[in-house]
Amino acid sequence: MKVDKVIVIRYGEIMLKGANKRFFEDKLVAHIRHAISDLGKPKVYKAHSRIYVDVDHYDEDQLIERIKRVFGVALISTAKRFEVDLERIKEVALEELKERIKLDGAKTFKVESKRVDKKFPLQSLELSREIGGYLLKNEDNISVDVHNPDTRIYVEVRDQAYVFSNKVMGLGGLPVGSNGKALLLLSGGIDSPVAGWMVGKRGVEIAAIHFHSYPFTSERAKEKVMDLAKIISGYVGQFKLYSINLLPIQKEINEKCPEEEMTILSRRFMMKIAERVAEKIKANGLITGESLGQVASQTIESLHVTNSAVSMPVFRPLIAMDKVDIIEIARKIDTFETSILPFEDCCTVFLPKRPTTKPRLDKILRSESNLDVEGLIEAALENMEIEKISLDDE
Ligand code: ATP
Ligand code: MG
Repeated sequence: MKVDKVIVIRYGEIMLKGANKRFFEDKLVAHIRHAISDLGKPKVYKAHSRIYVDVDHYDEDQLIERIKRVFGVALISTAKRFEVDLERIKEVALEELKERIKLDGAKTFKVESKRVDKKFPLQSLELSREIGGYLLKNEDNISVDVHNPDTRIYVEVRDQAYVFSNKVMGLGGLPVGSNGKALLLLSGGIDSPVAGWMVGKRGVEIAAIHFHSYPFTSERAKEKVMDLAKIISGYVGQFKLYSINLLPIQKEINEKCPEEEMTILSRRFMMKIAERVAEKIKANGLITGESLGQVASQTIESLHVTNSAVSMPVFRPLIAMDKVDIIEIARKIDTFETSILPFEDCCTVFLPKRPTTKPRLDKILRSESNLDVEGLIEAALENMEIEKISLDDE
C-alpha cells in the first residue's frame, strides 16, 4: 500500500478567532508558502483547522526547519497518509508509538481520533478505543493516560487515513499581517531586535527605522543593523528599513542645549521622525526596545518625556523584562551574536558625561524651543535612505 508523508501543522490561537478564522488561516498558508518558497513548491493546503504540506520528494527536515519559524504555527508533525483501512491504521499507529518510545522514552500514551468520513463504520471514540486496545496488546511497558500522556497518537479518517504524533513545537503567535503594521526603531543593540520580533509574533507587520551619525559612525555599524534586520525578516517576511542621519540634529543640540540633555533631546527627535515615517507608510504604532530602569534614558521620568514627543502609540514589549531574559530571547532568535559586535550606532557620539535621569518635561520643552525642530526634521527626512530587507538576497 502506498504511504505518503505529509507535514501537519496545527495553530493555537487562531482557533479562537471565530468568524475571522479564515482570514488568519489564509495569511498563515501564504506565509508558510513564502517561508519554503526557495526550497521548491510543495503543495500547501488547509482542511479542517489544520494546514498540510505534502513532503513529496522534498527534504522533510528542511521544510520543518522553515515552517517552525512562521508565526502562528503551534505544532508540527509528520503524518503518514494512506488508503483508509482499519488494520493498516492499527499497524501504522503501532509503528508511530514505537518510534515515540524509542525517541522520547514515552511510557504512557493516548489515542486521539477524528472521523471526518462518516461512511467509516467506527465513530471517533470507538476508533480511539479500538486502536488503543491494539497498541496495549502489541507493546509492553506502556499504559494509557488520558489526562497527561507522554505521547499522543493522532488518527484521522478523511478521504485518506492520517496517522501522526507530536513532533516539533512552533513559535505560536499570529500570522504576520493579520494585525496591522508598526514601525520598529532599530538600533544595533540587543533590545530593539527582540522588541520587533515580539511584536511581529503578535501578527503585526514590521517596518524599521535606524538612526546613524555617519561619518562619526562607521559603515560597519550600518551593515550590522542590516544584518540584524535580515535575521528579523526570517520571521516577519521582507520589509523596508529607513535610515536617517541624525548627525546634523545632534550637532544643533550640542551647540544650543545643556550637555546633560543631549540624550533625551535626541530621543525625542528620533520619536518624532519615526512618527512622521510611520504616518507616511500607514503604520499605526512605534516599537522600541526600552526597558524600565535599564539606562538613564529609560527611567520613568525619561520615558514620560520621550513619550510626550509623539501621539502615536508606542509599543515597548520589553518594558518590564530583565536584561538576562531579553538576552535569552536574543539568543533564541539568533540576533545576540550580531548585536554584541562592537560597532556603535549614533548614540555614543555626543554622549553626555552625566545624562539627566529625571528630566522635567517643561524644562526639556524650553530647551527644544531653542531649536528649529520642524526644519531639522524635514531636512533629516529629505536625506532618508530606504533599503529593502529580505532573506533571499544574501
Ligand atoms: P538597544 O539594545 O535596542 O540598542 P538600549 O538598551 O541601547 O537599546 P537606548 O539606547 O536607550 O537603549 O535605546 C532605547 C530604544 O530606542 C532602542 O531599543 C531602540 O528602539 C531605540 N533606539 C536607540 N538608538 C537607536 C538608533 N540609533 N536607531 C533607531 N532606534 C534607536
Ligand atoms: Mg542601543
